[in-house]
Amino acid sequence: MTENRPFGRLALIGCGLIGSSIARAARASGACDSIVATAQSAATRRRIAELGLADRVAPTSAEAVEDADLTIVCVPVGRSGEVAAEIGPRLKPRAVVSDVGSVKASVLSAMGPHFGPEIHFIPAHPVAGTEHSGPDAGFAELFVNRWCILTPPAGADPAAVARLAWFWRALGAQVETMSAEHHDLVLAITSHVPHLIAYTIVGTAEDLQTVTRSEVMKFSAGGFRDFTRIAASDPTMWRDVFLANREAVLEMLGRFNEDLAALARAIRWGDGEALFDLFARTRALRRGIVEIGQDSGRADFGRTHGPLPPLPRPYASES
Ligand code: NAP
Repeated sequence: MTENRPFGRLALIGCGLIGSSIARAARASGACDSIVATAQSAATRRRIAELGLADRVAPTSAEAVEDADLTIVCVPVGRSGEVAAEIGPRLKPRAVVSDVGSVKASVLSAMGPHFGPEIHFIPAHPVAGTEHSGPDAGFAELFVNRWCILTPPAGADPAAVARLAWFWRALGAQVETMSAEHHDLVLAITSHVPHLIAYTIVGTAEDLQTVTRSEVMKFSAGGFRDFTRIAASDPTMWRDVFLANREAVLEMLGRFNEDLAALARAIRWGDGEALFDLFARTRALRRGIVEIGQDSGRADFGRTHGPLPPLPRPYASES
């Protein structure tokens, strides 16, 4: 291990889109010495080995974490509690354990009780993803210029938090720290409710009696196509997200329903000024997102933006 590199062995529990992207990015950047990975099914474990994503593929989560300096749990949030129960007794003292779940308060309470006082448990959420799943879907640049939010519990060791932040920065991410509750509220509006709306719109189109399914597909305009991309996201992951972040999602959905009713009223009464004002504000927000580099301003919004910049390789000279 070099002086700067805070983790030797990395264990990945779950190696789908996010886990396999971490494996690829950690390899490319040299953010750890070695990687042990596992997954639930023998088929996925076989695929991890075929793709060469890890130095070793462990048959169980408990075996994967032995001797790991950093363990990252990359499973759907509804499974994180049972994984924590399995790995808790096998972690080495002073190991750092984290996760990547899209909801944080429920993960904290489901996983936290399974770790002893010698374990540094620091939940995290890389705000980066695609609608694809599985080990083939990952890529090393997924986290470049994306935010990774750390939600350390009260009393977490600042040095352990700093080591985890170092790891995510090595993968190309920017790091921010906040409470689990605040994270869940922010992500409810920026990610969870938009997914719910996409699932609803695409579901409504699917259900329409007066328009055929082939017409929906054939005449899908850009807006609808972008919704279908989001609505193709993994059903297991998103079921778990909504069940785990119920309060914050319902709070934001309440606000959304009120605003939708106000828009419907403006359309009914021909209030063009209200419509124009809102659309001008939303356009400004979109431009702000492009300005801070969180999306491309190109017209292929929602589709490929061409090759991403290569991941920095801080240890390239060592190999
Ligand atoms: P994914 O592609 O479906 O991969 C999930 C992985 O977890 C699979 O390797 C699966 O193994 C494994 N797994 C499930 N249950 C397990 C268990 N009990 N023990 C060991 N492994 C288990 O999912 P993903 O998109 O990477 O999402 C993983 C996590 O990242 C979720 O918590 C999600 O909220 C979060 N996240 C996702 C995104 C996104 O855009 N997708 C973005 C940010 C964060 P099998 O294949 O054998 O079932």
